[in-house]
Amino acid sequence: MISIKNVSKIYPSKQGELKAVDQVKLEIQEGEIFGVIGYSGAGKSTLIRMLNGLELPTDGSVTVAGRVISKIKGAELRKARQEISMIFQHFNLLWSRTVGENIAFPLEIAGVKGPERKERVAELVKLVGLEGRENAYPSQLSGGQKQRVGIARALANNPKVLLCDEATSALDPQTTDSILELLVDINKRLGLTIVLITHEMHVIRKICHRVAVMESGRVVELGSVLDVFKNPQQPITKRFVQQVSEPEETKETADHMLENYRSGRIVQLTFIGESAEQPLITNLIRHYNVIVNILQGKISQTQSGSYGTLFIHIDGNEEEVDKAVDFIRSQQVGVEVVTND
Ligand code: ADP
Ligand code: MG
Repeated sequence: MISIKNVSKIYPSKQGELKAVDQVKLEIQEGEIFGVIGYSGAGKSTLIRMLNGLELPTDGSVTVAGRVISKIKGAELRKARQEISMIFQHFNLLWSRTVGENIAFPLEIAGVKGPERKERVAELVKLVGLEGRENAYPSQLSGGQKQRVGIARALANNPKVLLCDEATSALDPQTTDSILELLVDINKRLGLTIVLITHEMHVIRKICHRVAVMESGRVVELGSVLDVFKNPQQPITKRFVQQVSEPEETKETADHMLENYRSGRIVQLTFIGESAEQPLITNLIRHYNVIVNILQGKISQTQSGSYGTLFIHIDGNEEEVDKAVDFIRSQQVGVEVVTND
Protein backbone atom coordinates (compact mmCIF):
# COMPACT_ATOMS: atom_id res chain seq x y z
CA MET A 1 0.00 0.00 0.00
CA ILE A 2 2.82 2.39 0.93
CA SER A 3 6.31 2.15 -0.45
CA ILE A 4 9.03 4.45 0.85
CA LYS A 5 12.21 4.03 -1.18
CA ASN A 6 15.49 5.53 0.05
CA VAL A 7 13.81 8.72 1.13
CA SER A 8 15.80 11.63 2.51
CA LYS A 9 14.76 15.14 3.44
CA ILE A 10 17.38 17.81 3.90
CA TYR A 11 16.58 21.26 5.29
CA PRO A 12 19.02 24.11 4.89
CA SER A 13 20.09 25.49 8.26
CA LYS A 14 22.57 28.00 9.64
CA GLN A 15 24.96 25.20 10.56
CA GLY A 16 24.78 23.82 7.02
CA GLU A 17 22.44 21.04 5.94
CA LEU A 18 20.11 19.32 8.37
CA LYS A 19 19.17 15.75 7.47
CA ALA A 20 15.68 15.45 8.99
CA VAL A 21 15.08 12.09 7.25
CA ASP A 22 18.01 9.99 6.16
CA GLN A 23 17.69 7.17 3.60
CA VAL A 24 14.50 5.61 4.95
CA LYS A 25 13.14 2.46 3.29
CA LEU A 26 9.77 1.06 4.42
CA GLU A 27 7.02 -1.08 2.93
CA ILE A 28 3.65 -0.79 4.65
CA GLN A 29 0.96 -3.36 3.82
CA GLU A 30 -2.70 -2.73 3.11
CA GLY A 31 -4.79 -2.98 6.27
CA GLU A 32 -1.79 -2.69 8.54
CA ILE A 33 -1.50 -0.45 11.61
CA PHE A 34 2.09 0.66 11.32
CA GLY A 35 3.76 2.65 14.09
CA VAL A 36 6.78 4.93 13.96
CA ILE A 37 8.31 5.79 17.32
CA GLY A 38 11.13 8.18 18.15
CA TYR A 39 12.04 11.07 20.41
CA SER A 40 11.31 14.66 19.48
CA GLY A 41 13.37 15.76 16.48
CA ALA A 42 13.88 12.21 15.15
CA GLY A 43 12.21 13.10 11.84
CA LYS A 44 8.85 11.39 12.34
CA SER A 45 6.64 14.32 11.31
CA THR A 46 8.82 15.08 8.31
CA LEU A 47 8.52 11.45 7.20
CA ILE A 48 4.74 11.26 7.62
CA ARG A 49 4.26 14.60 5.82
CA MET A 50 6.03 13.15 2.80
CA LEU A 51 3.37 10.42 2.65
CA ASN A 52 0.66 12.92 1.66
CA GLY A 53 2.86 15.33 -0.25
CA LEU A 54 2.92 18.08 2.40
CA GLU A 55 6.71 17.79 2.09
CA LEU A 56 8.72 16.72 -0.93
CA PRO A 57 11.64 14.35 -0.44
CA THR A 58 15.07 15.68 -1.35
CA ASP A 59 15.89 12.19 -2.52
CA GLY A 60 14.05 8.90 -3.07
CA SER A 61 10.38 8.20 -3.82
CA VAL A 62 7.08 7.71 -1.98
CA THR A 63 4.28 5.65 -3.50
CA VAL A 64 0.84 5.39 -1.86
CA ALA A 65 -2.00 3.30 -3.31
CA GLY A 66 -0.28 3.12 -6.68
CA ARG A 67 0.44 6.84 -6.97
CA VAL A 68 3.96 8.27 -6.81
CA ILE A 69 3.18 11.03 -4.31
CA SER A 70 6.66 12.52 -4.60
CA LYS A 71 6.11 13.19 -8.33
CA ILE A 72 2.53 14.40 -8.71
CA LYS A 73 1.27 17.99 -8.35
CA GLY A 74 -1.81 20.20 -8.51
CA ALA A 75 -5.17 18.56 -9.15
CA GLU A 76 -3.68 15.06 -9.19
CA LEU A 77 -2.08 15.58 -5.78
CA ARG A 78 -5.32 17.02 -4.37
CA LYS A 79 -7.20 13.95 -5.59
CA ALA A 80 -4.57 11.65 -4.06
CA ARG A 81 -4.90 13.50 -0.76
CA GLN A 82 -8.57 12.55 -0.53
CA GLU A 83 -7.33 8.98 -0.21
CA ILE A 84 -4.64 9.86 2.34
CA SER A 85 -6.18 11.60 5.35
CA MET A 86 -4.46 12.92 8.40
CA ILE A 87 -5.24 13.63 12.06
CA PHE A 88 -3.16 15.84 14.31
CA GLN A 89 -2.09 16.32 17.92
CA HIS A 90 -3.98 19.61 18.23
CA PHE A 91 -6.94 18.45 16.13
CA ASN A 92 -6.84 21.40 13.63
CA LEU A 93 -10.62 21.91 13.76
CA LEU A 94 -12.45 24.94 12.43
CA TRP A 95 -13.48 26.73 15.62
CA SER A 96 -16.33 28.76 14.13
CA ARG A 97 -18.02 25.66 12.73
CA THR A 98 -20.08 23.08 14.60
CA VAL A 99 -19.13 19.41 14.85
CA GLY A 100 -21.42 18.58 11.92
CA GLU A 101 -20.06 21.44 9.84
CA ASN A 102 -16.46 20.44 10.53
CA ILE A 103 -17.18 16.92 9.36
CA ALA A 104 -19.06 18.24 6.31
CA PHE A 105 -16.14 20.44 5.27
CA PRO A 106 -14.11 17.90 3.24
CA LEU A 107 -17.36 16.72 1.64
CA GLU A 108 -18.14 20.28 0.50
CA ILE A 109 -14.67 20.52 -1.03
CA ALA A 110 -15.19 17.19 -2.79
CA GLY A 111 -18.47 18.54 -4.25
CA VAL A 112 -20.82 16.20 -2.38
CA LYS A 113 -24.32 17.67 -2.63
CA GLY A 114 -26.64 18.69 0.25
CA PRO A 115 -28.83 15.68 1.10
CA GLU A 116 -26.08 13.14 0.42
CA ARG A 117 -23.69 15.19 2.51
CA LYS A 118 -26.13 15.32 5.40
CA GLU A 119 -26.55 11.58 5.31
CA ARG A 120 -22.81 10.98 5.20
CA VAL A 121 -22.20 13.35 8.15
CA ALA A 122 -24.80 11.46 10.20
CA GLU A 123 -23.07 8.18 9.37
CA LEU A 124 -19.68 9.54 10.40
CA VAL A 125 -21.02 11.07 13.62
CA LYS A 126 -22.35 7.64 14.53
CA LEU A 127 -19.14 5.86 13.55
CA VAL A 128 -17.05 7.95 15.96
CA GLY A 129 -19.66 7.97 18.75
CA LEU A 130 -20.64 11.64 18.72
CA GLU A 131 -24.41 11.31 18.36
CA GLY A 132 -26.19 14.25 19.96
CA ARG A 133 -23.14 16.54 19.69
CA GLU A 134 -23.61 17.54 16.02
CA ASN A 135 -24.49 21.13 16.86
CA ALA A 136 -21.83 21.72 19.50
CA TYR A 137 -18.81 23.90 18.78
CA PRO A 138 -15.29 22.51 19.23
CA SER A 139 -14.74 24.76 22.29
CA GLN A 140 -17.59 22.92 24.03
CA LEU A 141 -15.98 19.50 23.55
CA SER A 142 -13.47 17.50 25.58
CA GLY A 143 -10.10 16.62 24.03
CA GLY A 144 -11.23 13.11 23.20
CA GLN A 145 -14.40 14.39 21.53
CA LYS A 146 -12.36 16.90 19.50
CA GLN A 147 -10.17 14.09 18.21
CA ARG A 148 -13.30 12.11 17.34
CA VAL A 149 -14.36 15.04 15.16
CA GLY A 150 -10.87 15.02 13.61
CA ILE A 151 -11.21 11.31 12.86
CA ALA A 152 -14.73 11.66 11.41
CA ARG A 153 -13.56 14.50 9.20
CA ALA A 154 -10.54 12.48 8.07
CA LEU A 155 -12.78 9.56 7.12
CA ALA A 156 -15.37 11.66 5.26
CA ASN A 157 -14.13 10.91 1.75
CA ASN A 158 -13.43 7.20 2.35
CA PRO A 159 -9.64 7.36 2.41
CA LYS A 160 -7.43 4.32 1.96
CA VAL A 161 -4.81 5.55 4.39
CA LEU A 162 -5.06 7.43 7.68
CA LEU A 163 -1.96 9.23 8.93
CA CYS A 164 -1.85 10.05 12.64
CA ASP A 165 0.76 12.55 13.84
CA GLU A 166 0.89 12.26 17.66
CA ALA A 167 -2.90 12.04 17.59
CA THR A 168 -3.18 11.08 21.26
CA SER A 169 -0.27 13.07 22.70
CA ALA A 170 -2.51 15.89 23.98
CA LEU A 171 -4.91 13.47 25.70
CA ASP A 172 -4.96 11.90 29.17
CA PRO A 173 -4.26 8.14 29.38
CA GLN A 174 -7.90 7.06 29.60
CA THR A 175 -8.98 9.20 26.65
CA THR A 176 -5.92 8.01 24.74
CA ASP A 177 -7.10 4.43 25.20
CA SER A 178 -10.60 5.20 23.95
CA ILE A 179 -9.25 6.95 20.84
CA LEU A 180 -6.85 4.06 20.17
CA GLU A 181 -9.76 1.63 20.46
CA LEU A 182 -11.69 3.70 17.95
CA LEU A 183 -8.73 3.53 15.55
CA VAL A 184 -8.53 -0.28 15.89
CA ASP A 185 -12.28 -0.47 15.28
CA ILE A 186 -11.98 1.65 12.12
CA ASN A 187 -9.01 -0.37 10.92
CA LYS A 188 -10.96 -3.62 11.29
CA ARG A 189 -14.29 -2.35 10.03
CA LEU A 190 -13.08 -0.35 7.04
CA GLY A 191 -9.82 -2.18 6.31
CA LEU A 192 -8.09 1.17 6.50
CA THR A 193 -4.29 1.29 6.52
CA ILE A 194 -3.07 3.38 9.46
CA VAL A 195 0.35 4.98 9.89
CA LEU A 196 0.79 6.39 13.35
CA ILE A 197 3.69 8.32 14.80
CA THR A 198 4.24 8.74 18.50
CA HIS A 199 6.86 9.05 21.22
CA GLU A 200 4.84 6.79 23.54
CA MET A 201 5.51 3.07 23.52
CA HIS A 202 2.16 2.10 25.07
CA VAL A 203 0.45 3.52 21.98
CA ILE A 204 2.57 1.22 19.82
CA ARG A 205 1.94 -1.75 22.09
CA LYS A 206 -1.78 -1.25 22.22
CA ILE A 207 -2.64 -0.97 18.56
CA CYS A 208 0.23 -1.44 16.10
CA HIS A 209 1.06 -4.59 14.15
CA ARG A 210 4.59 -3.47 13.22
CA VAL A 211 6.85 -0.68 14.39
CA ALA A 212 9.82 1.27 13.08
CA VAL A 213 12.11 3.04 15.55
CA MET A 214 13.56 6.34 14.31
CA GLU A 215 16.67 8.10 15.55
CA SER A 216 18.41 11.07 13.88
CA GLY A 217 16.36 10.69 10.71
CA ARG A 218 17.09 6.99 10.26
CA VAL A 219 15.06 3.84 10.91
CA VAL A 220 17.29 1.96 13.34
CA GLU A 221 14.96 -0.97 14.09
CA LEU A 222 11.94 -2.52 12.40
CA GLY A 223 9.80 -5.52 13.25
CA SER A 224 6.52 -6.90 14.54
CA VAL A 225 5.48 -5.25 17.79
CA LEU A 226 5.66 -8.57 19.60
CA ASP A 227 9.23 -9.28 18.43
CA VAL A 228 10.40 -5.78 19.24
CA PHE A 229 8.95 -6.01 22.76
CA LYS A 230 10.32 -9.49 23.39
CA ASN A 231 13.74 -8.84 21.95
CA PRO A 232 14.67 -5.19 21.39
CA GLN A 233 18.06 -4.80 19.68
CA GLN A 234 19.11 -1.15 19.74
CA PRO A 235 19.75 0.80 22.97
CA ILE A 236 17.05 3.34 22.02
CA THR A 237 14.52 0.55 21.45
CA LYS A 238 15.39 -0.97 24.83
CA ARG A 239 14.69 2.41 26.44
CA PHE A 240 11.29 2.66 24.74
CA VAL A 241 10.37 -0.89 25.76
CA GLN A 242 11.38 -0.14 29.34
CA GLN A 243 8.88 2.75 29.36
CA VAL A 244 6.09 0.20 29.52
CA SER A 245 7.63 -2.91 31.09
CA GLU A 246 7.27 -4.02 34.65
CA PRO A 247 10.51 -4.96 36.36
CA GLU A 248 11.38 -8.63 35.74
CA GLU A 249 10.44 -11.07 38.48
CA THR A 250 13.60 -11.89 40.37
CA LYS A 251 14.94 -15.14 41.78
CA GLU A 252 14.24 -13.71 45.25
CA THR A 253 10.53 -13.28 44.63
CA ALA A 254 10.38 -16.86 43.30
CA ASP A 255 12.23 -18.13 46.41
CA HIS A 256 9.86 -16.19 48.59
CA MET A 257 6.89 -17.79 46.84
CA LEU A 258 8.36 -21.26 47.46
CA GLU A 259 8.51 -20.60 51.20
CA ASN A 260 4.79 -19.95 51.25
CA TYR A 261 3.80 -23.22 49.57
CA ARG A 262 4.87 -26.53 51.10
CA SER A 263 3.01 -28.74 48.65
CA GLY A 264 2.32 -28.58 44.94
CA ARG A 265 4.44 -26.82 42.31
CA ILE A 266 5.14 -23.25 41.41
CA VAL A 267 5.39 -22.83 37.67
CA GLN A 268 6.60 -19.83 35.72
CA LEU A 269 4.81 -19.39 32.40
CA THR A 270 6.19 -17.20 29.64
CA PHE A 271 3.76 -16.12 26.95
CA ILE A 272 4.99 -15.03 23.56
CA GLY A 273 1.98 -14.20 21.46
CA GLU A 274 0.88 -17.64 20.26
CA SER A 275 -1.40 -18.38 23.16
CA ALA A 276 -3.41 -16.44 25.70
CA GLU A 277 -3.26 -17.08 29.42
CA GLN A 278 -6.97 -17.31 30.08
CA PRO A 279 -7.88 -20.39 27.99
CA LEU A 280 -4.81 -22.20 29.27
CA ILE A 281 -5.72 -21.73 32.92
CA THR A 282 -9.36 -22.60 32.18
CA ASN A 283 -8.33 -25.85 30.46
CA LEU A 284 -6.02 -26.71 33.32
CA ILE A 285 -8.78 -26.45 35.88
CA ARG A 286 -11.36 -28.18 33.70
CA HIS A 287 -9.29 -31.22 32.71
CA TYR A 288 -7.14 -31.91 35.76
CA ASN A 289 -8.11 -32.39 39.33
CA VAL A 290 -5.86 -29.64 40.63
CA ILE A 291 -6.16 -26.31 42.38
CA VAL A 292 -4.59 -23.39 40.53
CA ASN A 293 -3.61 -20.13 42.19
CA ILE A 294 -2.35 -17.21 40.18
CA LEU A 295 0.50 -15.76 42.25
CA GLN A 296 1.83 -12.85 40.28
CA GLY A 297 2.90 -11.71 36.88
CA LYS A 298 2.18 -9.30 34.13
CA ILE A 299 0.66 -10.10 30.77
CA SER A 300 0.46 -7.38 28.14
CA GLN A 301 -1.83 -7.48 25.15
CA THR A 302 -0.69 -6.51 21.67
CA GLN A 303 -2.50 -6.73 18.34
CA SER A 304 -0.75 -10.03 17.59
CA GLY A 305 -1.20 -11.73 20.96
CA SER A 306 -0.16 -11.47 24.56
CA TYR A 307 3.29 -11.60 26.08
CA GLY A 308 4.66 -11.62 29.59
CA THR A 309 5.24 -13.80 32.60
CA LEU A 310 2.86 -15.45 35.02
CA PHE A 311 3.65 -17.43 38.18
CA ILE A 312 1.05 -19.99 39.16
CA HIS A 313 0.80 -22.49 42.00
CA ILE A 314 -0.64 -25.92 41.13
CA ASP A 315 -1.69 -28.08 44.05
CA GLY A 316 -3.32 -31.50 44.47
CA ASN A 317 -2.47 -35.17 44.18
CA GLU A 318 1.17 -35.39 43.02
CA GLU A 319 0.42 -37.52 39.97
CA GLU A 320 -2.32 -35.15 38.88
CA VAL A 321 -0.03 -32.14 39.36
CA ASP A 322 2.59 -33.85 37.13
CA LYS A 323 -0.02 -34.43 34.45
CA ALA A 324 -1.11 -30.80 34.65
CA VAL A 325 2.48 -29.61 34.22
CA ASP A 326 2.93 -31.95 31.24
CA PHE A 327 -0.20 -30.48 29.71
CA ILE A 328 1.16 -26.94 30.08
CA ARG A 329 4.42 -28.05 28.46
CA SER A 330 2.45 -29.25 25.42
CA GLN A 331 1.03 -25.73 24.93
CA GLN A 332 2.59 -22.78 23.12
CA VAL A 333 4.06 -21.34 26.27
CA GLY A 334 7.43 -21.27 28.04
CA VAL A 335 7.35 -23.40 31.22
CA GLU A 336 9.75 -23.43 34.11
CA VAL A 337 9.08 -25.20 37.38
CA VAL A 338 10.45 -23.08 40.22
CA THR A 339 12.63 -25.15 42.57
CA ASN A 340 14.72 -24.51 45.65
CA ASP A 341 18.11 -25.30 44.15
P1 ADP B 1 9.75 14.74 15.09
O1 ADP B 1 8.40 14.79 14.48
O2 ADP B 1 10.30 13.34 15.21
O3 ADP B 1 9.84 15.47 16.39
P2 ADP B 1 10.51 16.48 12.89
O4 ADP B 1 10.29 15.72 11.65
O5 ADP B 1 9.50 17.49 13.27
O6 ADP B 1 10.79 15.46 14.09
O7 ADP B 1 11.92 17.24 12.79
C1 ADP B 1 13.12 16.59 12.44
C2 ADP B 1 14.23 17.62 12.32
O8 ADP B 1 13.99 18.45 11.20
C3 ADP B 1 14.32 18.54 13.53
O9 ADP B 1 15.68 18.82 13.77
C4 ADP B 1 13.59 19.78 13.07
O10 ADP B 1 14.07 20.92 13.73
C5 ADP B 1 13.89 19.82 11.59
N1 ADP B 1 12.83 20.44 10.79
C6 ADP B 1 11.55 19.99 10.71
N2 ADP B 1 10.82 20.76 9.87
C7 ADP B 1 11.66 21.71 9.42
C8 ADP B 1 11.52 22.82 8.51
N3 ADP B 1 10.35 23.07 7.90
N4 ADP B 1 12.61 23.57 8.28
C9 ADP B 1 13.79 23.32 8.88
N5 ADP B 1 14.00 22.31 9.75
C10 ADP B 1 12.96 21.50 10.01
MG1 MG C 1 6.61 15.58 15.24
